Amino acid sequence: MAQVLDGKSVNQQILEELKPRIAALVARGRVPGLTVIRAGDDPASEIYVRNKVKTCRELGMLSEEILLPGTVTTAELLAHIQALNARDEIDGILVQMPLPTQVDSRAVLLAIHPSKDVDGFHPFNVGQLVANAPAPRSCTPAGVMEILRRNSIEIKGKHAVVVGRSDIVGKPMAFLLLHQHATVTICHSRTPDLPAVCHTADILVAAIGKPALLTRDFIRPGAVVIDVGINRLINRADVERIFRGDAGRLAAFDKRGQVIVGDVDPIDMAEFSSAYTPVPGGVGLLTIAMLMKNTVQIAERRVGAA
Ligand code: NDP
Repeated sequence: MAQVLDGKSVNQQILEELKPRIAALVARGRVPGLTVIRAGDDPASEIYVRNKVKTCRELGMLSEEILLPGTVTTAELLAHIQALNARDEIDGILVQMPLPTQVDSRAVLLAIHPSKDVDGFHPFNVGQLVANAPAPRSCTPAGVMEILRRNSIEIKGKHAVVVGRSDIVGKPMAFLLLHQHATVTICHSRTPDLPAVCHTADILVAAIGKPALLTRDFIRPGAVVIDVGINRLINRADVERIFRGDAGRLAAFDKRGQVIVGDVDPIDMAEFSSAYTPVPGGVGLLTIAMLMKNTVQIAERRVGAA
């Protein structure tokens, strides 16, 4: 039977390990601080930001949320970022995406000082990633690496296939695996014969955003499958098809009107892989933990403790 790579326990381990590091910083008079900027009233963003702020506070870190109206301009956002860049007690600045369409997201991203870029999205930090030099790493792929490492999954010499080439997941994921000596193939929507390429993977990472796209034909028996995808099913027929009529999932759907599924077929993944991350309960739990870790690491660097 396939091993379930449980995100919850890895999440707890990471947060527990951060506590003494935060205590040591506090003892030096330096509470690690994160500011999250949110603009508009996207309900998903509101939940993400609430959870980030809550975790910060539970860990005894300084946490601020700057809530801006949906009509905010690029200039106004840049002014907030410049003020935060200049504030000593703020270690991490995170701008919750997506921003309202009138805002130049790239200009906003570039304005965050690289040393406070807790998401690792600034081009300087992307360069550091490519060069395998220290810098904050994109949280979701960094969380995947923690799952692999803490479950003693061998990466060196393995063939890793990453499906998805986004700046926030696919590309950084590929570099992190490469730096751990995997042979890496990156696939995307124009990759011919995707099932055949995926079938060569020892480690298959799905970061696509398409519900249960990767089925048994994509999974080499015994492969490790990491499912980054978070997709909402809002159609009962899709729930029935993907979960093969599973009564529990259907009951959950009937109660909430939606069910979450990853980019990999959950039943095929459990049947054909040797180990896999479930959705929910896998990679998704780690993004916030890695954000906390990045913030603490930045604070340590800034006080010269790391
Ligand atoms: P993007 O939409 O930015 O990128 C999706 C990638 O998948 C693109 O590179 C695209 O290719 C590729 N793709 C789309 N369709 C296909 C296809 N049919 N065959 C092969 N490749 C395809 O998504 P993200 O990277 O931001 O997110 C990916 C998934 O991960 C989503 O489900 C998202 O919700 C989830 N996610 C989860 C997080 C978490 O766990 N906390 C955080 C971030 C994301 P192309 O470039 O050619 O268009």
